[in-house]
Amino acid sequence: MTVQSRKRKKAAVDQGHCVACGCCVKVCPRGAISVAYGCYAQVDESACVGCGLCAKACPADVIEMKEVEG
Ligand code: SF4
Ligand code: SF4
Repeated sequence: MTVQSRKRKKAAVDQGHCVACGCCVKVCPRGAISVAYGCYAQVDESACVGCGLCAKACPADVIEMKEVEG
């Protein structure tokens, strides 16, 4: 029997390399990602459902899908 994994994926932005283009904000179905102070994107992990659309849309390829507990 396989033990059910409780790990989920959440988007994580490499904020040092984000160019604040806003492409990720436009595609997020949950409104979980925003560009703070016009400088870099940040993710509201409680709202992120781990769909990965933002990572696909990012032209700078700075969004990584990471596994988190729960
Ligand atoms: S993974 Fe999906 S829900 Fe999470 S921030 Fe990216 S687009 Fe939004
Ligand atoms: S799409 Fe990528 S580069 Fe553009 S704001 Fe989002 S994380 Fe930053």
